Amino acid sequence: MSDPLSGVREILLREKDLFGDLLLIDPQAEGPNTVSARKHTDPQAEEPGFFELPARPLTTEPWGDAATLDVFNAAICTCMKCPLGATRTKFVFGVGDPHATLMLIGEAPGADEDAQGEPFVGRAGQLLNKILEAIRFRRDEVYICNILKCRPPENRTPAPEEVDQCIPYLKKQIALIRPKLILCLGLTAAQNLLQTNESLTRLRGRVLQYEGIPLMVTYHPAALLRNPNWKRPTWEDVQAARKLHDELVAQARQ
Ligand code: URA
Repeated sequence: MSDPLSGVREILLREKDLFGDLLLIDPQAEGPNTVSARKHTDPQAEEPGFFELPARPLTTEPWGDAATLDVFNAAICTCMKCPLGATRTKFVFGVGDPHATLMLIGEAPGADEDAQGEPFVGRAGQLLNKILEAIRFRRDEVYICNILKCRPPENRTPAPEEVDQCIPYLKKQIALIRPKLILCLGLTAAQNLLQTNESLTRLRGRVLQYEGIPLMVTYHPAALLRNPNWKRPTWEDVQAARKLHDELVAQARQ
């Protein structure tokens, strides 16, 4: 009797030839877009009747398979998915080392960032540079970006519809950089990335996770300009972040 699955098997084997090492959906991971790179080390993969799925892109967007930050930026910098596209001066993609081990995520560009096309270049940015210096990081050693790539008018808090359109860009940046540690600057960054309503008080001082990447939260530098009493707890947060970062980097080298 002929094998009813032989046609399917043939197609899958042809796809396997074409795709080589495949990206597999990780059943352990959370979220519909979570994939993990897994090599063909699974002994089951060699057993007859076991077929790996062909590569699934993270998204069906045309930029889904952009392999570098520059290619990705070029693909999205004319974005008009939300009304902020029409009011921006410059798209603020992000800045820093594409292989950074520490990634800092803020809220959205302000007036200075909108004018220059670079995150954290205004007063809050000057303070962020000092904070980084205090924990022995140069600005060009880390990667800095925001939840939104375009400036909300009057620097208002990002609207949920704007975040929904823009956050896939941030997620792709994280997937390309794969930092050892993420530091969220302020509640907007933390709540949107972690999909939580928890307060900053509850989120600070803990090691959380985004897609398996350790994540810490501290005050936004603009909040420190308004309330200098928060400088001391921020100092404690960033010291703890530096320590954890160094441990994670050392661990990865072993
Ligand atoms: N505040 C932010 O959250 N991001 C910037 O880039 C500048 C100020």
